[in-house]
Amino acid sequence: MKKKWISNQLCIADASFTCNLYCKYCHNPPIGKKADIKNIIKEVKQGNYDAVSLEGQGEPLTNPDILDLIYKLKENKVRHIMISTNGINLSDEKLCKKLISEVEFFVINLPSHIESVYNSLTRSVKYKMAVQGLNNLKKYKALNKVRIFHIINQENYKYLGDFVDWVNNNYPEIFLINFVFVRNKGRVNNSKKIVPKYSDVYPFIKLALLKSKLYNIKAVVQNMPLCVLKGVEGFSFEFHRYKRGDNVLERGVEGKAKINKCLGCSLEKGCSGARNDYLVIYGDSEIKTSELTLNSIKPERF
Ligand code: SF4
Repeated sequence: MKKKWISNQLCIADASFTCNLYCKYCHNPPIGKKADIKNIIKEVKQGNYDAVSLEGQGEPLTNPDILDLIYKLKENKVRHIMISTNGINLSDEKLCKKLISEVEFFVINLPSHIESVYNSLTRSVKYKMAVQGLNNLKKYKALNKVRIFHIINQENYKYLGDFVDWVNNNYPEIFLINFVFVRNKGRVNNSKKIVPKYSDVYPFIKLALLKSKLYNIKAVVQNMPLCVLKGVEGFSFEFHRYKRGDNVLERGVEGKAKINKCLGCSLEKGCSGARNDYLVIYGDSEIKTSELTLNSIKPERF
């Protein structure tokens, strides 16, 4: 049976308080404040949630109480659990196996398939552990539960097409590749060494999306305006949300920048828009009022 996308009904639980990486692009770094499981459960009960995403400031799988939390969520009628992780601790085969039986989706943040780029971006030497985590999921036939998050940044954008080749060669059964344009928040701190220009990324993301289509691997791109995705607008994550009647931007994501060029644009309702934190670095010269209409864009593979 095809897995359903969990989106609007989520309760974002504060599941972590530290991390085992130190990513240059992290926009929500840990502050060391541990959330009490009791409070999380209380929130879930009050909200009557049946879908929970375990994430937060840091890495959920560094939380020694994570399995207890998951069991308690299940006791409290949560049927769908998604965990957002860097995948390092999935290299522990026993833990990985236990999680597979409890978790519906693994969102795995993997910034590169190239060891030197991965280690540079994560300021670590843990590339092999991240790959082992994916290999464990593969061994237990759980790749259909995996959404790979690939944060597009200055160090990896030239390899986006190669990244899709690598996924296709090694993990073609994954559920989705979600390319996300880096946000200028947290550790990014206005750095042009981390945030690339939309126009520089465009040919590479276009190639990556078209390759994923060729390989029959579902892919979307998030946090890039439609006018900088010429010809591949149908892969926009926000456009898909618009098409299915959701709010265009996910809960907790800052609103679009107010740009005059967007006010008169026929795509505005289905577009992520540009973010103020991007404009602070590069301005709005790449943003162009589109002549397309939302109805003329065909959503890809949904
Ligand atoms: S002009 Fe604004 S609304 Fe139109 S596609 Fe570009 S960013 Fe989106």
